[in-house]
Amino acid sequence: MSLTKNQVASVAYTLKNSEGQVIDKASKDSPMSFIHGVGGMIPGFEKELEGKNIGDSFSLVIEPENAYGERNDELTQDVSREMFAGIPDEQLVAGAQFQAQTDAGVEIITIAAVNGDQIKIDANHPLAGETLYFEVEMLDIRDATEEELAHGHVHATGGCGSDKAEKSESGGCCGSCGGEGH
Ligand code: ZN
Repeated sequence: MSLTKNQVASVAYTLKNSEGQVIDKASKDSPMSFIHGVGGMIPGFEKELEGKNIGDSFSLVIEPENAYGERNDELTQDVSREMFAGIPDEQLVAGAQFQAQTDAGVEIITIAAVNGDQIKIDANHPLAGETLYFEVEMLDIRDATEEELAHGHVHATGGCGSDKAEKSESGGCCGSCGGEGH
């Protein structure tokens, strides 16, 4: 079976940046599963995985434009220390990352620099501007269930409530689960 839209792919992968540092990985024992072709993954990753078969191993080089985009300097700004009220000084260091609620939803912001009471923050995605180097092994492909397609995410084998199910704060296997039909 070769991967096409609305199928669930399970992959093991290693993601490195251009310096060869491992940024992220999923092992064969704990693979990453996702619904293919619905925009859940970066565009370059979905494009390259289309048509791949179970057992295929391959390397991908994905340019920023097909990954997390180029860096945008306008997303960098100086803010007052007060914006981080309640966060101790030792956590406010260059490179530290925080989740911030913005108009566009939850975003990760990175502390770019600290100058006394003035803090430079960077709202670019941490991987913006990075070329991504993947080593991927396709472990499994199956059709997504109607429920998975309706939710837009993969349910663990055995469905919600199984040991493997993704847990969320609402107690369901995901944000939209835990309600009717689960
Ligand atoms: Zn769900």
